[in-house]
Amino acid sequence: MHDNAPDDRYDLLVVGSANADLVIGVERRPAPGETVLGSDLAVHPGGKGANQSLAAARLGARTALLARVGDDGHGRLLLESQRAAGVDTDGVLVGGAPTGVALITVDPSGDNSIVVSPGANGRLTPEDVRAAAPLLAAARVISVQLEIPPATVAETVRRRGPETRLVLNPSPPAPLPAEVLAACDPLVVNEHEARYILGDGAGRTPQDWAPALLALGPRSVVITLGAAGALVADSRTDSLDHLVSPEVEAVDTTGAGDAFTAALAWRLGRGDALREAAAFAVRVGAAAVTARGAQESFPTLEEVDAL
Ligand code: ADP
Repeated sequence: MHDNAPDDRYDLLVVGSANADLVIGVERRPAPGETVLGSDLAVHPGGKGANQSLAAARLGARTALLARVGDDGHGRLLLESQRAAGVDTDGVLVGGAPTGVALITVDPSGDNSIVVSPGANGRLTPEDVRAAAPLLAAARVISVQLEIPPATVAETVRRRGPETRLVLNPSPPAPLPAEVLAACDPLVVNEHEARYILGDGAGRTPQDWAPALLALGPRSVVITLGAAGALVADSRTDSLDHLVSPEVEAVDTTGAGDAFTAALAWRLGRGDALREAAAFAVRVGAAAVTARGAQESFPTLEEVDAL
């Protein structure tokens, strides 16, 4: 590493959310006004930003996270789990609001009810992004999702380095300004997000969606298709490829999309072509569904190779 080569510092910078997932198992989810007793509380580090940075680091990527957590126990849990995985947390800001929380009740059939308090995620501001200029300049790829304020996403897009590639997963789905769409290379969506963006104009099949999404401005598009793998469309090569997922026994698909996107972004940062990077990401996503939980399920490179 040389001082004059800062872009060698990180394969991937994730700008996004960090949440504590508070999970209680119940026999039956409560009706309005009702109180039910549940299991012991389980607390898991989560949030799409923290999930992605941890997934990339577990694969061996040099990864940094730009996020905001509260000055509280949940914030410390998130910082510790990121550091333990090898994520650079110098860009994680502390304070301003409680750490974001997802309150999750899950019944024996696996159906859940979730309330999210964005907390500190909602206080990650455009100024925070500007203050992190050296971090943005030092990343080959920046990955962003939509669990932080839209103005912060837009500022990240504007402030990225001239050589920095932007990967965006628009989750949870929300309107995207043209300047953000145009910067995506690729835009990564699942079927639900693709339908949201295309609205009534969505065609019948993912093969129809890919060119329709490209027409909105991104240079490339990746559509994840669960057990069916992913579609990759690249405007540079005018190509549309279907990458098949390895067959695995799916135990829990929570976080599969985050593992997929992190793996894709990392490989793009390492110089892979999009199709090659997506072929790797499909295997990482498949490995992630073979174990329970989100961050707990993210594979190492050895586990991906063993698939
Ligand atoms: P999301 O989690 O955002 O809804 P998907 O369900 O499309 O996204 O999953 C993302 C990726 O995870 C897929 O492209 C695939 O690689 C992998 N994956 C998800 N579900 C399965 C499954 N049942 N079997 C194998 N791979 C899966």
